[in-house]
This record gives sequence, structure tokens and C-alpha cells, in this order.
Amino acid sequence: MQNQDVAKILNRAARILALRGENRYRIRAYQRAAQAVAALPENIEEIVKQNRLQKIEGVGKALAAKIEEIVSTGKLALLEKLEQETTPAGNNKEILLAWALAFCQDFLPELKKLAAVKKVAVTGEMRRRQETVQEINFLLVSKDVEATKMAICRHQQLHRQEWEQYSCRAVHSFGVRLRLDLVVEADYIQQLWLATGSQEHVKAVARLVYEKTGLNLLQALPFANSFSFATEADIYKLAGLPLIEPELRENRGEIAAAQTGELPILIRAENYKGDLHIHTNWSDGTASIEKMAEKAVEMDYEYIAITDHSQSLKVARGLSIQRLAEQKAYLAKLQAKYNLRIFCGIEVDILDDGSLDAPDEILAQLDVVVASVHSGFRQSREKLTFRICKAMQNPYVQILGHPTGRLLGHRDPYDVNIDEILRTAKATGTILEINSSPDRLDITDKIALQAKKAGIKMAVNTDAHSPLEMDNIDLGLSVARRGWLNANDVVNTVPAREILDWLHRKRTG
Ligand SMILES: [Zn+2]
Ligand SMILES: [Zn+2]
Repeated sequence: MQNQDVAKILNRAARILALRGENRYRIRAYQRAAQAVAALPENIEEIVKQNRLQKIEGVGKALAAKIEEIVSTGKLALLEKLEQETTPAGNNKEILLAWALAFCQDFLPELKKLAAVKKVAVTGEMRRRQETVQEINFLLVSKDVEATKMAICRHQQLHRQEWEQYSCRAVHSFGVRLRLDLVVEADYIQQLWLATGSQEHVKAVARLVYEKTGLNLLQALPFANSFSFATEADIYKLAGLPLIEPELRENRGEIAAAQTGELPILIRAENYKGDLHIHTNWSDGTASIEKMAEKAVEMDYEYIAITDHSQSLKVARGLSIQRLAEQKAYLAKLQAKYNLRIFCGIEVDILDDGSLDAPDEILAQLDVVVASVHSGFRQSREKLTFRICKAMQNPYVQILGHPTGRLLGHRDPYDVNIDEILRTAKATGTILEINSSPDRLDITDKIALQAKKAGIKMAVNTDAHSPLEMDNIDLGLSVARRGWLNANDVVNTVPAREILDWLHRKRTG
């Protein structure tokens, strides 16, 4: 059995546990084990034979037993149980966007196989890339809606079905709430637009269309459409507007901006040049610097910054000043091997009094300095705000990492004065991070928009602890897009040859 196969099974178990709203530590344990196994330089079977599983970082006794089971039997009984078991009540918790996306990736091909289905689109909150999702909406284009309806009725994983004409609410075996809308091709674009929402946005645009043309887009009956659209842009054209992208459809002023030609040109993945917050196995990451660099090359990045934890963060095996110097020398040697700039950085802890966990002389020698709070989450609003603002005053701190510290579904944001943080960021020229970890997505889309309006730059980083987590960049970019950010608002779009000058503006004055 290959390491990748074992990792795949562990990852799948993590996903299903997440969709069921299981404890995040249990989910993370499976994920971390999967990443560790995938990153191993030797074959997993060898390690099992020699009884060395628990020596792997991130693999405890319980997971060692699971891995052994996978290697010896080729499967995991827990996973089989999870796949078959139904949670008919449905999970009332909101699902993180990352898990919902993973679910769609798995389930979309299944829907495509149903009788008479021509294509399937994801709509609703997911298409607008909301950070958490209550219900996943699919739009199925069918050549024969009756036949497709029958196929759904018989589907073994779709429970508690409630039909209203050709729209069905159901609960998937994994506990996920779904809505499936069936349409014929001619109705596809209109339904796609209606189902994508948000409701307020759709209503406002429909009103404009009605005023201009007398056409009521909200009233059209399924399968009786006398008009058909080729693209969503055609709908907006009827309202006298340019296309408004799904992430903006929240009725937060996007229609007025479209009317005055002030819609942002949203940042896209192609604009993104490199990740400025990455951990390796020098601190609490699961992979080597080389593995992270290889992944960056694969992703076509121009640069990455290695930003392992600073010394005080013992739980994350923070680097001593000595180790940091060793890492810097190592990176310098490694540089020639890659067609990629590898910046030497740090994620320096903001200590209890707002000072930093490394002296200025050391920070001055580093390319990239991210400063973050990792302790004292329950301190008073004044104290936390003071700590963060004091750290931003430091001329070597370029980026404030995960500024509000929230963990979706687990920990609220720290009680901080966001307005004051934004004011200080602006005054000191400090960049605010949009952290792409699935349960962080910190700062939020709303704060990002507020920061943009205040003229503050942002960095979209993954804070990846493994190569796989570098793919989370899509989540961070979704937040940026929902926050109306264009490429210019985000420092990671600056090319390699200019980025350091850009980042060092604070220290050079
Ligand atoms: Zn951090
Ligand atoms: Zn970090």
C-alpha cells in the first residue's frame, strides 16, 4: 500500500467527520496524520513492520492503530461505517466552506450520473462562497425532469426528501442538508441566477428589470419559459447593469456601484504571486522546507516566505534565535535549487505586554515578519487592542497575522476594537492578513471591505502547515473577493522583484 492511498483514506474520514459536525480535534487528528503519512520519505508498510508508527509527528496511539488497520486490510472499518450510517436528522450546524467544497467535489459526479441529467451546477451560498454553509444547493439540468426526479427519489444517500414540484430538500447520509432543483436547459441561466441569490440582491435586480422591461423574473414558472438567457450577463443587461459576480451579490451596495461603473475588478487566482505565511517541520509544520517549495513551484508561485513560529510558542516548537539563524543559512543554500524565491521570515508572537518575541536586531535581518497573537485570548478588549496596536508600531512588523483570532464554530474572535486596529494599521503602514485556514478566514469579508475603504493593504496567506494546506489559498481569495478586493489591494500580487521593497517600506520610511 502506498503512503498516498493511506493518506487518502484518512482524509476522507476527516471530511465525513467534519460534515457530521464532529469535534474539531478529532477531525484535525485525522488530517494531520494524513498529511504526515503523505509527507513521509519512506514507505508506510516498512514503518508498520518495524513498529515505528508512533514516532511519526502527529500520530498518536489511536491513529497508529487506524493506520495499521489500513495497511493490513486495505481499508478502515470506521470509514465504511461512516459511509453507510445515516444521520437522518441532518446536521444543524453550519458547515465550513472548505468541507462543503470537498463534499461537492465528491457528490457532483454522482449527481451527473443520474438519469437524464445533462449538467449540474452549485448555486446558493456556496456559489457566493459564504464562509459557512447551511444547505448545499445543486441545480440539475435534465432532458427529462420526471426521470431525474424518479432517480433522486430512489437515491440511497438522499434521505427525508421533501418535494415541491421539481425542487427537493433532502439530507445526505453524511448529515449534510441539500436542495436539488431540476430544470430544463432553457430555464438554466435564470434558475442559476435565482438560486444563487442572495434573495435581497435578486429582488433588487428583478425590480430594475421589471421597471425597464415589464418582465417579471421572479414569477416565471419552471418549464414554461418564453424567454431564455444565454448567460447571466444577459439578465444584468436587462437591468442596465454589467455582470455582478456571485461573491458580490449580497446587497451591500453592489447594485449602486454597478450603476455608477464602480464595481471592483475582483482579484483572481492568476493575480496571486506567492504565499507569505508558511510553516515547516522546523516548527509545527508536517513537511520539510523542500516539500513546501516544491508545492509552490507546482502552483506556479514566484515566491514563498517561510515563517515558522518564534521561541515562546513552545507548543508549536518555536525556533530559538540560534535555530532561526540556522534556518536562514539553510534557506540561502537551498535557494539555488529552485526557480522560486524563498524568503526567510518568522511568525513572531505578540507577547503579553505587546512586545515581540524576538529582538529588533533579529527581525531586521529577516525578509518577512508576520506578528500574531497566540495567547491571552480572554484578556480585556483594552488589553488585547493595546497589545496588537503596540506590535503594529514596530517598524519591522509588516503583516498582522490572523488579526481577530477567531476559529469558526469553536472560538469567537478576540474582543478587540477593530476600528482602532484599522486606524493603527493605516497610520503605521501595517498589512492585515486574510488567513485562509478553513476555520479561520480571518479577517472576514466585511472587515476586509472596511479596511479597503480605509486604504489599508491586505495579504492573503494560507498559514499552511503542509503542502496540501497551500491549496487553501482559494478560500482566502474567496474572502478577498467577497470583501470587494481587487488585485491592487492585495500585496501577494506584487511580483518577486518588487515585493521586498514593498514589504520593507515601513522600516525604510
Ligand atoms: Zn498563527
Ligand atoms: Zn502561522
